[in-house]
Amino acid sequence: MSGDARPLAAPGRTDYPGPAMDARDNLYALLADRLATVPDAPVLVLPGGGTVAGGELLAESARIARLLLDAGLEPGDRVAAQVDKSPEAVALYLGAIRAGLVWMPLNPAYTRDELAFFLGDAEPRAWVCAPEREGELAGIAPGARRFTLGRDGAGSLVTEARARPARAPVVPREGSDLAALLYTSGTTGRPKGAMLTHRNLASNATVLVGAWEFGEGDVLLHALPIFHVHGLFVATHCALLSGAPILFEPRFEPPRVLALLPRATVFMGVPTYYTRLLAEPGLGREACAGMRLFFAGSAPLLPDTFRAFRERTGHAVLERYGMTETGMLCSNPVRGERRPGSVGRPLPGVGLRIVDGEDLPLPAGQVGHVQVRGDGVFPGYWRLPERTRAEFAGDGWFRTGDTGTAGEDGYVTLSGRAKDLVITGGLNVYPKEVEDALDALPGVAESAVFGVPHPDFGEAVAAAVVLQPGWSPSGEELISHLRTRLAGFKVPKTLHFLSDLPRNAMGKVTKATLRERFGGGGG
Ligand code: AMP
Repeated sequence: MSGDARPLAAPGRTDYPGPAMDARDNLYALLADRLATVPDAPVLVLPGGGTVAGGELLAESARIARLLLDAGLEPGDRVAAQVDKSPEAVALYLGAIRAGLVWMPLNPAYTRDELAFFLGDAEPRAWVCAPEREGELAGIAPGARRFTLGRDGAGSLVTEARARPARAPVVPREGSDLAALLYTSGTTGRPKGAMLTHRNLASNATVLVGAWEFGEGDVLLHALPIFHVHGLFVATHCALLSGAPILFEPRFEPPRVLALLPRATVFMGVPTYYTRLLAEPGLGREACAGMRLFFAGSAPLLPDTFRAFRERTGHAVLERYGMTETGMLCSNPVRGERRPGSVGRPLPGVGLRIVDGEDLPLPAGQVGHVQVRGDGVFPGYWRLPERTRAEFAGDGWFRTGDTGTAGEDGYVTLSGRAKDLVITGGLNVYPKEVEDALDALPGVAESAVFGVPHPDFGEAVAAAVVLQPGWSPSGEELISHLRTRLAGFKVPKTLHFLSDLPRNAMGKVTKATLRERFGGGGG
């Protein structure tokens, strides 16, 4: 978006009719009730200095809801959006859930073919794309009404919505009705649509505001994308629900974030944001003096990054763990020990157990599969009943696909994705253990360990390594160091030096890419 001081909506207040239903179970009612208490206060603060007040955001969402209802959409219909981050995109999200529709955000980086898959699978009744892609994307969702929305707010969506009054019903929805459909980042295989209910999202947002002590005195520095759980449901919901203004940045730019830190109290980022901030010479105690919390999630925060950040800024980054299908699951505490390398304890209302291959609970300290239950856990994958059944244990616990341990004190430490487990000669190798050993060697910046097909062992351990600038240890040197620290079967058979690890939009290392590139097989 442009960052100018344009108003979000024409002047005028929404007719938000007040709580139409139990706000604990209707996400729109929950968010709108809070926004209605700050009608004139800035909720979004734009880069150019403009602001969007709570009343304006509600008014714009009412106009958009009106437009979608006038277009014939009915409760439960999907609204897909592949749009850039903008205040109007937030209003569109709120408008869709106000109208009882199912919000389906899509990464703007998706190509025409990828989009065709998502739109074909979800069959939205309306979809919104960037004006500049209108021609290229013509005809891919023939059954859907199409609108356009640019990063500057231009396009048919806003033009048509502004021709309507800021009046629309809050369409009643139950807690078990769908509010969103999010395709999982799909680091391997075919992406699956995770169905998220009003109760899933409302309950998780409420828990997070409490656990993380969000309040009106907070100012959230928001540089994450909003097509993903982290930027939309975690960051945006926490701020909207606590009446805290959002410094709404179009993207993560380290110098810009650094410049804004003195105006903020809370920052949320993926681990890469922290390594990039550490590369900024200006990052220090002074810039962070007014900050209450730095959060990290979506991918593992390296203990080295945690320590370097604490040394430079005095702040212990609060690492938390969650997934699209479940919302947030574990968190290090606001008050108490934030432990590097651990994702903290289960959040209130989250049941978490570590089990073996037969779903039987393991004693504290043993590595196993992480399973969870609670109000945040989704009901299943869109139109994939078989897949859904396979992902839940017989007694209803959800198989996260992550492996890890829970200590006697409840702190959970993850050791990787179960599918990334390497089984070599019948022995299990948890990539994280080997990555930790590699990362501890002088000159290693970061690493990724993965399995590649091997004629004798079934799989062999392989590693991709990124070196710190100015270092040039050989592969043989690194491997001989590892031999002194790890059992022989865990030591990588091959080592590949890369300038960067391949990552997806949320900073997760895509091991399938590494397997494909170095193993000759798919992931
Ligand atoms: P997504 O559904 O795209 O948010 O991905 C969820 C997955 O991200 C989880 O199942 C974990 O594998 C990973 N993840 C999220 N947070 C963390 C964390 N703090 N540390 C390690 N892995 C994480």
